Amino acid sequence: MLKVGIDIGGTKIAGGVVDSDGGIVEQLRVDTPTDTAALAQAVVDMARYFRAGHEVAAVGVAAAGFIDRDRATVIHAPNIAWHNEPLKATLEAGIGLPVTIENDANAAGWAEFRFGAGRGVDHMVMLTMGTGVGGAIVLDGKLFRGGHGIAAELGHIRFIREGLLCGCGQRGCLEQYASGRALQREAGAIADEGGIGAALAAHRAEHGSISGPAVSRLVLAGDPGAAEALRRVATALGEACGGFQAVLDPQLFVIGGGVAQLGDALLEPMRLAYERSLPGYGDRPVATFAIARLVNDAGLIGAADLAGTEA
Ligand SMILES: [Zn+2]
Repeated sequence: MLKVGIDIGGTKIAGGVVDSDGGIVEQLRVDTPTDTAALAQAVVDMARYFRAGHEVAAVGVAAAGFIDRDRATVIHAPNIAWHNEPLKATLEAGIGLPVTIENDANAAGWAEFRFGAGRGVDHMVMLTMGTGVGGAIVLDGKLFRGGHGIAAELGHIRFIREGLLCGCGQRGCLEQYASGRALQREAGAIADEGGIGAALAAHRAEHGSISGPAVSRLVLAGDPGAAEALRRVATALGEACGGFQAVLDPQLFVIGGGVAQLGDALLEPMRLAYERSLPGYGDRPVATFAIARLVNDAGLIGAADLAGTEA
């Protein structure tokens, strides 16, 4: 059975026709309109285009934000002016197929659980290190949604009391210390300190700023300042994983997002911090860590797989 998955990102809308094994049959990418009506129309147009060429049963749409338990309404979105937006009804009226709305991190986590790094486990936590930190929790083979549909906002646990202001309105959230943006900030701080920050400072002097990919390139080139920036964010995320282990006891943590492309350079300091943060370490069983496999397509694959299901 074919379904359409559409992942609404900050800059691009990625859509695809997805088969029941998570394979993408056809794919499309367009710029994300800033106007909300134009955005909804772009999603409708994309779904109608796929529908014209394929026998499609349902449409799944992934978006950043709080999605209600019925997977119909966007309660709150961080980057789009949606407030209790009845997105499912709007899209179904335009597309003429059943539509399911999903949180983007949940959709990506589900795709990894079904078809990627999470295959073969029943209890998995996924953390996506992008601009922020996204979370998804799979328990007993099901997405854990909580009482209102908006569980697993793992990037917004309070990590530092009276810490940095977060876009969610709170202070000290994990994502302020463990995201791609945090990596850039730490790289800037290390450049300011001099010493091992010399290469970062030189890069900033030449380019005006230090991008996440630039830090990654310096890490892979063996630069000690960039490695220290990565160690700081990896340590923050690893420590948080120790806490998630205490609460959820997953078998596996899957790490996704741009920073995860660093692979073991990220996972090694993270695992060390995780083990140091575990209650009862030494006696207790521990989780394994893996890098996400589906990368940019996870959101659309997961949204398609979840469309029209009870999961
Ligand atoms: Zn927050």
